[in-house]
Amino acid sequence: MSDPDCIFCKIIAGELPAQIVDQDERTIAFMDISPATRGHTLVVPRRHARDLLEIEPEDLEATILAAQRLARTVRDRLGADGVNLLNSCGSAAWQTVFHFHVHVIPRYAGDPLRLPWTPAPGDADEIAKTAQALR
Ligand code: 5GP
Ligand code: ZN
Repeated sequence: MSDPDCIFCKIIAGELPAQIVDQDERTIAFMDISPATRGHTLVVPRRHARDLLEIEPEDLEATILAAQRLARTVRDRLGADGVNLLNSCGSAAWQTVFHFHVHVIPRYAGDPLRLPWTPAPGDADEIAKTAQALR
């Protein structure tokens, strides 16, 4: 169910802080600490699964549906013009946290983001304000 060494499991258990913006029976979504754009969130299954190859189908379905829900929210609340969903499976594909997650990356017409991006820590106050707008 959960992995004691996994940071996302700790966030799910409330043992590590996170700006949670959405949750349901199977999933939880929180702000990425190094956002690629304003409103970058991560959607994860509550049940630990290492990656796309290991996640159970019902958790995968619930996670993708939650990502769709968030895509609508970033359009409606933040005025995003588009959204990139991204999943990295394995270190060769740049996965760095080994608890399955889908990045929901809002895109704004003309924004400078080029994928893959170079993560840099975001401003905590700005992230908190954006999280509030998404809740
Ligand atoms: P990956 O590289 O595995 O696709 O994505 C991992 C993401 O998790 C990165 O975008 C990184 O910024 C984010 N991340 C890593 N550690 C934490 C953390 O402790 N809290 C939050 N909110 N995000 C994290
Ligand atoms: Zn985990």
